Amino acid sequence: MARCRVVLTFPPDKVEKPVAYHLVKDFDLRINILRAKVDLNEEGKLLIEIENHKQEAIQRGLQFVREQGVQVELVDKELQWDDEECTNCGACTAVCRPRALHLEAPDWKLVLDKQKCTACGLCVDACPVKVIRIDF
Ligand code: SF4
Ligand code: SF4
Repeated sequence: MARCRVVLTFPPDKVEKPVAYHLVKDFDLRINILRAKVDLNEEGKLLIEIENHKQEAIQRGLQFVREQGVQVELVDKELQWDDEECTNCGACTAVCRPRALHLEAPDWKLVLDKQKCTACGLCVDACPVKVIRIDF
C-alpha cells in the first residue's frame, strides 16, 4: 500500500473547494484528515494522509489538487529545525506521540520520519532552545 502525508494550502478564494471529496470519489484514494485550519476568507491548511495501492494514483490525485490552485507540500517541509542550534537533547522526542522524531545512532542526532509526523506542534513547545518551527 502506497501512503503519503501532505499539507494542502488553500488560498483565501479556494478554501471552499471540495478537493478531499474529489480525491476520494474521482481518484479512488483513501483520505485521513489529521489536522485542519480553515476560516472563510483566510488561507486554509489541511494535513491529510493519502493511501492507495498504487503510488501513481496518489500522484494523479495530487496533480489534480495543484491544478485547482491549491499548494501541496510534504510534511517535512512544514516542520524544520536549526541543525546548528539543536543540542540533540531529545526533549522533543519525548513528547512526539507518533514517534516521528528520534535520535539516531551512531552520532545520536535528531531525525524526523516525515511519514509519521501529524504536525501536532508539541515538539515546538518542548524544545528548550526553541529551534523547531512548524508552518501550519
Ligand atoms: S509536530 Fe508532533 S508529530 Fe510532528 S514531530 Fe513534532 S511532536 Fe512529532
Ligand atoms: S528539543 Fe530542541 S534542542 Fe532538543 S533535540 Fe529537539 S530540536 Fe534539538
